Amino acid sequence: MKILVINAGSSTLKSSLYQFPDQKLLWESTVDWMRSQIVVKSFNGAISKEIVSSSTQLETLSHLLSTIWQGDTAIVADPNEIEAIGHRVVHGGQKYSQPTRITQQVKDEIAQLSSLAPIHNPANLNGIEIAQKIFGGKVPQYAVFDTAFHSSLPDEASIYPGPYAWQEKGIRRYGFHGISHQYCADRSAQILNKNLDSLRLIICHLGNGCSLSAVRNACSIDTTMGFTPLDGLMMGTRCGSVDPGILLYLLQQENYTCEQLDQELNYQSGLKGISGISSDLREILSEIQKGNSRAKLALDIYIHRLRSCIGAMLASLGGLDALVFTAGVGENSPLVRSLACDGFKFLGLEINHQLNENKPFDQDISDVNSKIRVLVIHTQEDLAIAKSCYCLQSENLT
Ligand code: ADP
Repeated sequence: MKILVINAGSSTLKSSLYQFPDQKLLWESTVDWMRSQIVVKSFNGAISKEIVSSSTQLETLSHLLSTIWQGDTAIVADPNEIEAIGHRVVHGGQKYSQPTRITQQVKDEIAQLSSLAPIHNPANLNGIEIAQKIFGGKVPQYAVFDTAFHSSLPDEASIYPGPYAWQEKGIRRYGFHGISHQYCADRSAQILNKNLDSLRLIICHLGNGCSLSAVRNACSIDTTMGFTPLDGLMMGTRCGSVDPGILLYLLQQENYTCEQLDQELNYQSGLKGISGISSDLREILSEIQKGNSRAKLALDIYIHRLRSCIGAMLASLGGLDALVFTAGVGENSPLVRSLACDGFKFLGLEINHQLNENKPFDQDISDVNSKIRVLVIHTQEDLAIAKSCYCLQSENLT
């Protein structure tokens, strides 16, 4: 069965085609709307790069998807070979805790949830509308929600201690990066050769956006992102948790507008805000080598926040079997992994420094004597979306 995955973000649209049951990636593409660039990679060896020449997103995507069955990158003989389409949808609210077949009602509800995810949900919905225009109603389409894995959070972790009316308005911790956290939880169980139900895990998704999850009995029981993806850890350009009194101070004493606050909290904070250099950890590390003290401060705050939040997840879990690192920073920075783990030596957590340095994808990098395992997992959100569609589609066919 061939399954197409569409991940329509605000500035890029990524799509990939998988073959099941062997989970083989056949074709993938990215459209970067900001740079007007299209890159297509087919696993027959062909790669094509071009400039967006069509005036509408529908035309661009139609052209892009046609490269699956036409031209050098063609990997299937006929578009009808695509049996299902999966879409990443960032916000599923309180209702959507499972991957769901897309109907008009589901689309209406994704649109209503745009007030909670004003950048992401409209872009996701646009991807769905375009795919429906291209493939018609024949090919089933599924929405896989980034909030769904965290729908199991208990009330004490998900309800904010403001007035109770907040929770009645839907202001609660939703959590994000759920597709990645769930993928890493499942993959951890495979690597450790244990049943996921029996494991207590802390998963550190450290990319441009950063979040932790605490997983017990195969469910997310706590997470650091909240009502919005601004909460929790220090990130590339986002501040994470700060005293809400600072916002009142800036509004009342410094006459900030909402737009200024939004801009500073989301785009001028985090690694970029403190270092004044970049949101990219690689650039921060290279500046630290040159003796830049603000770059060093940015890393120090990042690690301090990471350790504190790991500590909070640890308390929610009441113990830990494995600490898991994933996403751009988690997968590629031995230094961040090592500094984060140093804070938990007192629990008998020890990493094997040689394994930590050697591109340790999907590996246990802990020392043989460590009381807690440490894993590095290459997250594959698109594959996870495709797997969900495969399961649903197989159920529908039986
Ligand atoms: P996104 O959240 O946009 O999906 P990624 O998970 O791809 O982001 O993470 C991107 C970030 O990963 C980059 O901004 C950079 O900080 C970090 N990163 C990537 N490679 C390395 C590396 N070799 N060393 C340190 N950080 C890295």
